[in-house]
Amino acid sequence: MYDVIVIGGGHAGVEAAMGAAGMGMSTLLITGNLDTIAQMSCNPAIGGLAKGHLVKEIDALGGVMGRIIDETGIHFKMLNRSRGAAVWSPRAQADKKRYQELAKKNLEDRENLHLFQDIADEILVEDSVVRGVRTSRGIEFESKTVIICTGTFLRGLIHIGEYQERAGRLADFASEKLSQSLEKIGFPIFRLKTGTPPRVNGSSIDFSRCEIQLPDEIPVPFSYSTEKINNPQVPCWITYTNEETHKIIKGSLDRSPLYGGAIKGTGARYCPSIEDKVVRFSGKDRHQLFLEPEGLNTNEFYINGFSSSLPEDVQLKMMKTIPGLENAVVMRPAYAIEYDFVPPTELYPSLETKRVRGLFHAGQINGTSGYEEAAAQGLIAAINASNLIKGKKPLVLKRSEAYIGVLIDDLVTKGTNEPYRMFTSRAEHRLMLRQDNCDRRLMKYGVETGLLKKESYERMLEKYQKIDECVERLNASSVTIDSTFINGLPDEYTGGLAPGRINCGRLLKRPGIEASKVIPLTGLEIDEITASIVEMEIKYEGYIKRAEEKIAKIEKMELFSIPSDFDYSSINGIKREALDKLMKIRPATVGQASRISGVDPSHISVLIYHLENNARQKGDVPRGTCDN
Ligand code: FAD
Repeated sequence: MYDVIVIGGGHAGVEAAMGAAGMGMSTLLITGNLDTIAQMSCNPAIGGLAKGHLVKEIDALGGVMGRIIDETGIHFKMLNRSRGAAVWSPRAQADKKRYQELAKKNLEDRENLHLFQDIADEILVEDSVVRGVRTSRGIEFESKTVIICTGTFLRGLIHIGEYQERAGRLADFASEKLSQSLEKIGFPIFRLKTGTPPRVNGSSIDFSRCEIQLPDEIPVPFSYSTEKINNPQVPCWITYTNEETHKIIKGSLDRSPLYGGAIKGTGARYCPSIEDKVVRFSGKDRHQLFLEPEGLNTNEFYINGFSSSLPEDVQLKMMKTIPGLENAVVMRPAYAIEYDFVPPTELYPSLETKRVRGLFHAGQINGTSGYEEAAAQGLIAAINASNLIKGKKPLVLKRSEAYIGVLIDDLVTKGTNEPYRMFTSRAEHRLMLRQDNCDRRLMKYGVETGLLKKESYERMLEKYQKIDECVERLNASSVTIDSTFINGLPDEYTGGLAPGRINCGRLLKRPGIEASKVIPLTGLEIDEITASIVEMEIKYEGYIKRAEEKIAKIEKMELFSIPSDFDYSSINGIKREALDKLMKIRPATVGQASRISGVDPSHISVLIYHLENNARQKGDVPRGTCDN
């Protein structure tokens, strides 16, 4: 008898198991193969635009992904560094095997956590409440809650040209019976598709024909608890497809399972296979490929950008046309995979299913794609499964306080019909959700759950006290700038600037003026990272204030909760289509209701009127946080 059972030891499962056990729950992780814990099915890398933010948010909440990549990353790069610091995003190439080993070791060392290798076949449910799990070897484990984190394994079907194989990943099992069990419970199930490129032996690559891409000179860690990256850092390489490659692809489309109709699942538009790119962007005469090492103790290279489901003989022909890869020896072919997912509109914002009390879904089963998206959901599902057992309110992060809030709100409110990945453009409050301030935004929740050490939280408070003081001092002090200072700036930033005294805050607000140039003039001594945060706080002060005002207005609606048993059928004045959506999604708050497509502001007014009326009749005040 466990408090929490986690099914699947992928990226969602690792955070879910670590999180639940870390919150004191007796936890069991059942996974099909203990040797593939936290395996990176596709790209051996963590982070990237918006995904890097997710990793730092997970870290601030007390999750483990950031610390594991810091110890196993072999090519760190801060993306977007040439643009404003508000849009920087960290990414690191991982030593794939070491990442897995360290994730497994973290799980093994966690108190309250048992690991067990088996395949979960059935979710045991009684009176719409979860009771446990039955495995393929017929073992029944009882539990108060279950978190399903089965990734691409639910009825996984691999395609390589005409070849098909039932598998959750190449050389892995497919989880057939669990899908049937979910269907039996009543969950609707749909199909999605994703793909991966070939891996080749690095000793057969001619790197002299490729461009080198060096890692950052000083790698910046993901985790707030990592002081320094100590791993050796290695380069990646860049090469390109060409007209010859495209000719081979175009001539083989009739053998593609995607174009031939064998693949039924929907793929992601933003992550097309090479054949998709060649067809959709037919005017482009080349596509960039990154050659990325899979680890320090292997010579295997991942060909980023070359994902395909074309037959293996075609893949080989394509490869031979590419500079540097003419003699490349393929170790694993590219392939596409179709799998089942359960629409995330089946979930409350806590990630608990609406059909079964105590059952949570996290990761790719919810229609997302990506390790970081999966890990973020795994952690939130663990926190909320634990909170449910402890009788506490679920943790529902707001869209204005975390990318994780945006991710989960998008999923449970809008659903998805293609693999969902995080983009910065999905967040309406981007300026507030920077990668540098995840600690300030989220560590309070980390200490509340007990997953984050108190010392980390206190260190964060001290850091921001220093930053706030520095901002205040800069806004209150003036410096003298001379012509050397002005002449040192690029021409486009010197307009209206004359030698003389100027307020430091005003100076820093000007485009092109960096804190590292102004702060030394004041005699203040702060490190580079703190200086960049100070710079953003001052530069974007006006925008941040306006965004805060907007958020305060929106939050009023977020506080207006809707009882989970609210009877929508009694409402007059809302169009049938909108009413159907409200009944299907059952939003937890008026704010969430307002974001459902097809529900417009006039419907919201009617809804509020009915909610208030209902509450008055019951003698309640219809306010409070999300109640599911
Ligand atoms: P996974 O990492 O898939 O882990 C699932 C775990 O559950 C596995 O350990 C498995 O053994 C276990 N499991 C499954 N069923 C059972 C069961 N019944 N009982 C016990 N254990 C079970 N993401 C991207 O962002 N970009 C890409 O380009 C991309 N390409 C991909 C290509 C391929 C071929 C594949 C397979 C995946 C790709 N992904 C890609 C997706 C990425 O791998 C996932 O988003 C991420 O790994 C999801 O994490 P997860 O924890 O949900 O599941």
